[in-house]
Amino acid sequence: MKKIKDVRAFVLNMDEQGADYHARTGDHWINKTVIATPMSKYPAYQKTRTSFGIDVLGTLLVEVEAEDGTTGFSVTTGGLPAAYMVEKHFKRFIVDQPVCNVEVMFDQMYNASMYYGRKGITLNAISGVDCAVWDLLGQLRQEPVWSMIGGKMRERQPMYATGPRPDLAKEMGFIGGKLPLPYGPSHLNEGFTENLELAREMRSRCGDNFLLAFDCWMALDTAYTLQLIRSLDPLDFYWIEESLPPDDLDGYRQLVMERSYPIRISTGEHEYSRWGFKRLLDTGVDIIQPDVNWCGGLTELLKIKALASAYNKWVIPHGSSVYSYHFSIASDATPFSEFLMMSPKADTIIPMFSPLFENEPVPKDGHMTVTDEPGFGVKLNRNLNWIRPNYE
Ligand SMILES: [Mg+2]
Repeated sequence: MKKIKDVRAFVLNMDEQGADYHARTGDHWINKTVIATPMSKYPAYQKTRTSFGIDVLGTLLVEVEAEDGTTGFSVTTGGLPAAYMVEKHFKRFIVDQPVCNVEVMFDQMYNASMYYGRKGITLNAISGVDCAVWDLLGQLRQEPVWSMIGGKMRERQPMYATGPRPDLAKEMGFIGGKLPLPYGPSHLNEGFTENLELAREMRSRCGDNFLLAFDCWMALDTAYTLQLIRSLDPLDFYWIEESLPPDDLDGYRQLVMERSYPIRISTGEHEYSRWGFKRLLDTGVDIIQPDVNWCGGLTELLKIKALASAYNKWVIPHGSSVYSYHFSIASDATPFSEFLMMSPKADTIIPMFSPLFENEPVPKDGHMTVTDEPGFGVKLNRNLNWIRPNYE
């Protein structure tokens, strides 16, 4: 097995950041729609999420090179701070490793950064390195990642669409639509009524038998969530996503116990590692939603998935573009997956990480397929302004 010769971390100097979902310019729904957040209690930060800096980190590109010059890469969020960690800390655990040694590389990066890491940007950076190594392994073996992790569970992966227009997503063939929740507890009854109006409007536009869900982006508390669940009962919403802050595990336990009808409780896009997800699964939540590029990478996600299977729970990954597509189609615990509608009005399908790849696949008729191309099957768009920071 060839060894790794070099690891390089790059950031992007441009407005549209691709892997940082929220860095979008102009009138884009993801930063121009009112969406409830943990910052919604501050009037100055209610209208847009960019106002409190949701797009501040930007994209990280990790490139790994084998001794024969073959390269693999991956992209994630984390920008400059994550690039610093990769080059100044994690690189020492990667260079000179045989490319197949994904387990020892994850273990050394995780344990060496435990005193400052375990979650957040540190795990974004580790995920970036891990997925780049998987991509390189695929290039060397001339094998796609989905094949290296066990083969296809299904030929086509059913997809639901996240965005403000589930009615348009239904017309495009998606199996469901997930709406960002506009208002949280600080908007009191008026906001609650508007949330319900939106839910009613979309249910009437989409008709019955179409999966609808609310994404609450950590903005609510247990009382508000339970009231929302009760009010949504006649509208048959499928899940309520991430309604509580990630550390409110007692709150999630309470939601599972007290929900008034079998709406599913889902969460986990801001959780990390097998240890974080074990604590989450212990609360009884129905669906976990790790982001492949954030949770620790593919190596760690496979452990998280095995754990969830033992709890008889679904793993529906958050976003993650091709990194999710390869995992999902090979996962017994992932009957369908998420597609983020990244066109400004959510009315057309564009690649999720656009413009980072030359050949990023998109779903057709609401279903995703994967190719036989090696690694994650995408080519980096090298025409972008990739910058390798100088730390001297
Ligand atoms: Mg979400």
